[in-house]
Amino acid sequence: MTSPHFDEGFYTALIAARSQFDLSDKFVVHPESGRSFSIRKGQTFRIIEAEGPQIGDVWFYNQFDPKKEHFWSNYTMVLEGVHMKKLSRLWSTMPKFRPMATVLEETVSSRGSPPHNIALGSFCTTESWELFTGMKGHNSCYMNGLQAIEPFGLSEYDLHDNLNVHMNVKIDGDTGDVSVEKTQCEKGDYIEFYAEIDLLVVLSVCPEGDGSSLRSGEITVRPLEVEVYDTYVEPKPFPEWSDWRPSLRQGFYPEDSNSRATTPQK
Ligand SMILES: [Zn+2]
Repeated sequence: MTSPHFDEGFYTALIAARSQFDLSDKFVVHPESGRSFSIRKGQTFRIIEAEGPQIGDVWFYNQFDPKKEHFWSNYTMVLEGVHMKKLSRLWSTMPKFRPMATVLEETVSSRGSPPHNIALGSFCTTESWELFTGMKGHNSCYMNGLQAIEPFGLSEYDLHDNLNVHMNVKIDGDTGDVSVEKTQCEKGDYIEFYAEIDLLVVLSVCPEGDGSSLRSGEITVRPLEVEVYDTYVEPKPFPEWSDWRPSLRQGFYPEDSNSRATTPQK
């Protein structure tokens, strides 16, 4: 299912032109660390399994207004489903509420495995490591993310919804229970995002390794690689929302004045 305002022909042509994209940048994010990087609108970036199975956490921000616009995982799941697959779009918070990035490819489900890359919007914290393992002060995606956003004047209050890449998460359709299983991603698997707006991206190499480590007790944390590509294709502008707020001030509910919220009296 694709959400409204989706021009499938535009993305079909873009995907068909992938072999003509030019590699612009390439770097490795090492175990026990995070990194932030800027992506111009119209560029793509891939998050690649550099040496083998490894899950990662990714945060997306408006590069020029990161405090006010970032990825909105809950609404993205309502519109796109819980797993980000080819042509899934990642939506931003109100009031902009627009696609920030579109998935052009993710290889794990393309080759027949269940979809990974879940938008549940959770990440391991040093607190969750202490909760589940008793280990104190453990490296976490939260710690990695904080270190990566600090240079941009952002803090703990700005580390919001994220996408879990390469992560094999199952949701029981009857009970709603969530379970994390070992990733089925292999060396070379990747997910590729097309930037619909100028992005600040934060990537953490999760200290849970392949996603099974908390149960198995055997933790191997491997690096993730990022490749950035120039596509030379400008994103299509998303339609501007109508400006409804002035009409609310002028009486949005003219026949039902009791439904208007009242200003609390001091
Ligand atoms: Zn983590």
